[in-house]
Amino acid sequence: MIKYITRNAEETHKIAKSLAKKIIASPLPEDLALVFALKGDLGSGKTTFMQGFAAGLGIKEKITSPTFNIFKKYPIKNEPGSYEPGSFYHFDCYRIEKPKEILDLGFEKIISDPKNIVAIEWAENIKESLPKNTRWINFKFVDKNTRVIDIS
Ligand code: ADP
Ligand code: MG
Repeated sequence: MIKYITRNAEETHKIAKSLAKKIIASPLPEDLALVFALKGDLGSGKTTFMQGFAAGLGIKEKITSPTFNIFKKYPIKNEPGSYEPGSFYHFDCYRIEKPKEILDLGFEKIISDPKNIVAIEWAENIKESLPKNTRWINFKFVDKNTRVIDIS
């Protein structure tokens, strides 16, 4: 477990970006996609973290929360790298009521490709559909500009 305290949105962005860079510089996992489950109150910094994370994967598009579509897919651009031509999947499960709903969106196929990287806001809503290798990232709102981020 690593605990970070960030004092503004840029610091959260930076932590996420360097985590993503570290991941794509590492060998591919053997069997499943890497899955990050983000948990924390509204405004605690999950989407901000996602924006930094995507930047670290070389994604130039603007990352916005996919609340209505549940997920958005972006090509990972880390040439030259073993993750190419994988995709980054940004899920927001705020609207999911039953964990099994995620399976109708092809979730199992997405997580079964080791070239993919999957990050999920409101992951507690699909807890029982998450793979065993899931890494949890917890966000705590301390005050207006301070957040505690725990990465397991
Ligand atoms: P969530 O996706 O968890 O609802 P967002 O990332 O959308 O949260 O919103 C976080 C808000 O808090 C943004 O407006 C951001 O600028 C602000 N903020 C202030 N301090 C921080 C910090 N240390 N880390 C992340 N966001 C912060
Ligand atoms: Mg969000």
